[in-house]
Amino acid sequence: MYYGAVEAGGTKFVCAVSDENFDIIHRVSIPTTSPSETLSHVFEFFNQYSLQSIGIGSFGPIDVNKDSDKYGYITSTPKPGWGYFDFIGTMKEKYNIPMAWTTDVNAAAYGEFRQGSAKENGSCLYLTVGTGIGGGAVVDGNVLEGFGHPEMGHILVRKHPDDSYEGVCPYHQNCLEGVASGPAIEKRYNKKAQELASDQKVWELEAYYIAQALVNYTLILRPEKFILGGGVMKQEQLFPLIRQQFVTLLSDYVDTPALEKSIVMPELEDNAAITGCLLLAAEAKEQI
Ligand code: ADP
Ligand code: ZN
Repeated sequence: MYYGAVEAGGTKFVCAVSDENFDIIHRVSIPTTSPSETLSHVFEFFNQYSLQSIGIGSFGPIDVNKDSDKYGYITSTPKPGWGYFDFIGTMKEKYNIPMAWTTDVNAAAYGEFRQGSAKENGSCLYLTVGTGIGGGAVVDGNVLEGFGHPEMGHILVRKHPDDSYEGVCPYHQNCLEGVASGPAIEKRYNKKAQELASDQKVWELEAYYIAQALVNYTLILRPEKFILGGGVMKQEQLFPLIRQQFVTLLSDYVDTPALEKSIVMPELEDNAAITGCLLLAAEAKEQI
């Protein structure tokens, strides 16, 4: 018997099947097109296996409230065709097995918590800085959700005095995602983030924004570890800059673990979310 996992992203879906030890035995990447076309490829893949449960970590916003009549839906996404798509309903029509349903970043946080850089920790927070910015946290062994899932990428940040760029978020303009996502960097400098690798000022600004976010998350949650992933964080020079800014902004108000060990890259690299989905699939099965 196998576990299935879907990391549903806005650009691509990664699907994987693992054995009961969570060793991945097959994995595919499917371009995200329309829901029906994309899901037809997902079904083609999973039809080759007898699955006991499936874990899904999806781009959002999604409805995770079990009491809601829209539970299992992707909700107000601007992505054409995907608004109010009944993801779990469509999956359940095909496979009548237990399913776990959460955000891609919650899944990544859970993967890192159980098998990655936070496996020795009691709590962690995973933040992706890519096309968008999103975060998920694990507290007391559980993914943190309330009325809905957190939207950590849209917190409001203080503008850097040297930054005149107005921000890219259609809802809040200069929220964290608005000023620090990959597209924000690209619009501010008219160049892709990866082409600005040697421009020190770009990364100073970026670190200032990300450090503000980590200070706020620290004040709210006090997680033991921050794991920073996504395309923009491939610029490894950001890590020491973020740690420096974090110290300045937190201003010794509260204790934190040593920052070299608590503001880190994902140990599972690009497998954090898919691993989390497999682990959550196993738990969905146990709940039956
Ligand atoms: P997505 O968020 O769409 O799943 P990514 O996490 O790769 O995918 O994020 C894509 C964004 O990250 C783009 O804005 C891109 O410019 C930026 N990006 C990708 N690779 C790098 C890199 N090596 N350095 C800096 N920015 C990068
Ligand atoms: Zn926003």
